[in-house]
Amino acid sequence: MTFDFFDVQVVRHRALTPAAVRVTFAGPDLDRFAGGGRDQRFKLFFPRPGQAAPLVPRGEDWFGRWRAMDPATRGVMRTYTVGAQRDGEFDVDFALHPGGGPAIRWASGVSVGDRLVALGPTEPDNGGVDFRPPPDTEWVLLAGDDTAVPALAAIHAWLDPALPVHTWVAAEPGRCRPGAVRCDGDLVSPVRAATLPAGTPYAWIAGESGQIRALRRHLVQERGFDRHRVTFTGYWRRGATEDDLIAEAA
Ligand SMILES: Cc1cc2nc3c(=O)[nH]c(=O)nc-3n(C[C@H](O)[C@H](O)[C@H](O)COP(=O)(O)OP(=O)(O)OC[C@H]3O[C@@H](n4cnc5c(N)ncnc54)[C@H](O)[C@@H]3O)c2cc1C
Repeated sequence: MTFDFFDVQVVRHRALTPAAVRVTFAGPDLDRFAGGGRDQRFKLFFPRPGQAAPLVPRGEDWFGRWRAMDPATRGVMRTYTVGAQRDGEFDVDFALHPGGGPAIRWASGVSVGDRLVALGPTEPDNGGVDFRPPPDTEWVLLAGDDTAVPALAAIHAWLDPALPVHTWVAAEPGRCRPGAVRCDGDLVSPVRAATLPAGTPYAWIAGESGQIRALRRHLVQERGFDRHRVTFTGYWRRGATEDDLIAEAA
């Protein structure tokens, strides 16, 4: 089994920007928590109002049993990226947005001692890592919004520094420091306007689903990227909760 449940507790948190908070989790079994770096995804379960910790069934068919629970009481499941891992603890960077759902509301009011449940990797080589450039890759295109910044940072740290990398980050309006990155949520226009290098590319793009679909279309249809060399993930969709997306996929 390459994923397992972990009881975790907040031990530290600090604002990275007015619209992002880094939360550090610790837990009794985290010596078994073994992420593969890059865009390592995992699940976090958040408590409902009035609960000290989220209610999450474990063991055989946990997902079926979680889905069968009363949505008003079961833990809220959301997907996040594993940040830095140290002995017995790991970080998660939350992008904050007004009008967000339960996860963002939790992160906006996070306190030391808060308890969550993580469903995380127990082996570095696991199915939750999607950034896998083929060996013949000559340069890498990365693009994402602020929810993808933790993955973009970890991908940069993992890559061979000799490999050319071109990165675009576009935060949602009002969610970045002026001058730091684009603040209009538009990932497509700057990539469309760019002169891209020659050679065999590999692209990794993640962020708001509509933007990512449009950017993938641009890369494959207008730029001629081989579609097998474009890894794309909708990290969230405007107007839909992650529960809506899970229900759609079921
Ligand atoms: C593989 C993967 C990795 C991810 N890693 C990270 C990460 O490391 N850090 C991070 O911050 N996020 C990350 N996300 C995105 C995060 O899971 C979503 O933003 C999630 O929907 C937030 O949950 P919520 O309960 O706040 O909102 P939901 O209840 O899911 O949605 C409520 C409303 O908020 C909107 N919404 C959701 N997210 C955003 C957003 N970011 N900006 C604006 N509106 C939004 C929805 O469209 C909806 O209308 C990742 C997603 C995936 C799939």
